[in-house]
Amino acid sequence: MTYAIPIWAPPALPVTGSADGFPVRRIFCVGRNYVEHQKEMGGDGREAPFFFIKSAHSLVALGGDVHYPPKTANYHYETEMVVAIGKRGRRIDAGRANEHVFGYGVGLDMTRRDLQQWGKDHGRPWDFGKDFDEAAPCGALAPASKIGHPSKGAIVLVVNGKERQKADLSDMIWSVPEQIAYLSEYYTLEPGDLIFSGTPAGVGPVKPGDELEALVEGVGELKVKIVSAV
Ligand code: MN
Repeated sequence: MTYAIPIWAPPALPVTGSADGFPVRRIFCVGRNYVEHQKEMGGDGREAPFFFIKSAHSLVALGGDVHYPPKTANYHYETEMVVAIGKRGRRIDAGRANEHVFGYGVGLDMTRRDLQQWGKDHGRPWDFGKDFDEAAPCGALAPASKIGHPSKGAIVLVVNGKERQKADLSDMIWSVPEQIAYLSEYYTLEPGDLIFSGTPAGVGPVKPGDELEALVEGVGELKVKIVSAV
């Protein structure tokens, strides 16, 4: 088939140690998945996981310059380990979930917190708070075949040289295999899907000129500089 408008290349992430890219299909994100972050967002204990979705269009492969988005006065970072699905599946057993993982990366679930809060307050969708241009910077993927399936290790964010987030992957309320099992009850997971696995406490605002360095031990890193809106 030919197309009425020019066809675009799929959003994609580099793969560490490989010339092949990883095409991105959908981006699922889990909410409130670290105990201390759940508290800072007003939660009070273990509840069923919940997810929201960013479009693949919001991906910023390898970070770099990210523009301050429009229509917000409270633009936040959330540092997260990103899980890349490599094998299709539905109703996946948590005990076999790792078989569906291609690899892992470091991502920032950038958030227009004021728009998200407006949605919460009015019983409306969160989309404008979470899914917008350049809302999902993500570093290169480290294949599970090389690094295994990390369930512990530091997750850290440094902003302008100051540590703003620090936790351990083992602090997740719902582990990555549990997230995959839960999500795959609702969706057929497909190769190319990403799961942002939640952020630790310490989320906060950034402004143009701020430099963010996110790190997940054993997985990789991601550097972003916030630049003025175009
Ligand atoms: Mn998040």
